[in-house]
Amino acid sequence: MSTVDLLFGDLALLLSNAIILVIVTLMFVISLRLFLDRRKKGYMSMTFSLIFVGIHYLLKLYVLLTALDTSLTAYLLLMLKIISFVLLNLGIYQLYNRTNRNQYVFFYGLIIMGFVVSILHFSVPQMYSGTVHQVRLLQDIGLELYVFVLIFLCFYMVPPYIGQQVKYQSALTIYFFMQTGHLVNVYMYGDAQIWLTLAGNILPIVFYFLLFTLLFDRVVELMQAIYNSSITDGLTRLYNRKFFYNRVTQYVGRHLPVYILFSDIDNFKKLNDTKGHQMGDDVLKQVAQIMKEEVEECGIAGRYGGEEMVLMVTDPSVKMDAFAERVRSRIEKETIVTASIGYSKYKNGVSAEELIKQADEAMYKAKTTGKNKVVKYA
Ligand code: GH3
Ligand code: MG
Ligand code: MG
Repeated sequence: MSTVDLLFGDLALLLSNAIILVIVTLMFVISLRLFLDRRKKGYMSMTFSLIFVGIHYLLKLYVLLTALDTSLTAYLLLMLKIISFVLLNLGIYQLYNRTNRNQYVFFYGLIIMGFVVSILHFSVPQMYSGTVHQVRLLQDIGLELYVFVLIFLCFYMVPPYIGQQVKYQSALTIYFFMQTGHLVNVYMYGDAQIWLTLAGNILPIVFYFLLFTLLFDRVVELMQAIYNSSITDGLTRLYNRKFFYNRVTQYVGRHLPVYILFSDIDNFKKLNDTKGHQMGDDVLKQVAQIMKEEVEECGIAGRYGGEEMVLMVTDPSVKMDAFAERVRSRIEKETIVTASIGYSKYKNGVSAEELIKQADEAMYKAKTTGKNKVVKYA
């Protein structure tokens, strides 16, 4: 076997198809797993499309191995190419969006248009009498050109609705060159231009590899989002009580010098009663935002209960009295409420629970001695 065979011959095509099948199988496993886990339509289209891509490449391999290159297999391969391309793009769209009827009409409409264009395939032999080869070329041209329409439509219509746009558009650009190279090779060089053949073997691998990383990154992103939502509070986006408590336990367990600040909004029930629950929620978000900004570089913020928020300050250089006072005064100035604040300092032998309780007690003292003030646990 010569190098030429390896790079340009049937063997290269075989190798290329085999690599693509491996990548597609990996993508299939990931998207099937996603679908079974989460039962979302989006993962079904992706899974479905990969089955079509798989069948497409298996049929290609079959045609290659059995030399069964007939007008019918060419038609089947082209239709599979079009269906799998549209479904893949629908699958990618759905990784990021819920689909409504309009989008289904759009994507499935593209497939139906493919069938309409394919009428040409069957009418050419009746309208045109040339050599078998000429007829074959003319039969396929409609569907081959239709692939360009699909590439352009997806290139401009899908990216605004998805993440990883650059990667997606790069993949489509590669698909564009792949299709162009294929057509130039078949229609101008009788499928014999070796560099175009080489490109035709390599570009699809790059295309499917890019799609693989797109799917993979999306899965990681989804996992990250699930994890984040399991440790944060949905309204304020502060850490939830459980996560906050675990973090405090970690620091206290290592005897690190931490402070806990406990704040409770004053007369919040009255605000809810007079201005409505929605206004109450907005105020909670504003206060949470102040907490987050203040603690950003020196610790973490959590939502402990309804309108009780807590901070753990882990930077020992922070002057806690001034820090707590700044939080209090920002709440007073920037929102329509005030807050009572207490804070406690970690001392050896105190548990996480006790440390938080001390800050809570100090806050309670602030409440009972006039509200809108800072009290240190003594
Ligand atoms: P105090 O000054 O003594 O703290 O009085 P308060 O009214 O703030 O205290 P109280 O604990 O009696 O009321 C807290 C209220 O917070 C009760 C509850 O309806 C409200 N609340 C708790 N969680 C939420 C929330 O997520 N959104 C809104 N809008 N209100 C909430
Ligand atoms: Mg309260
Ligand atoms: Mg309150």
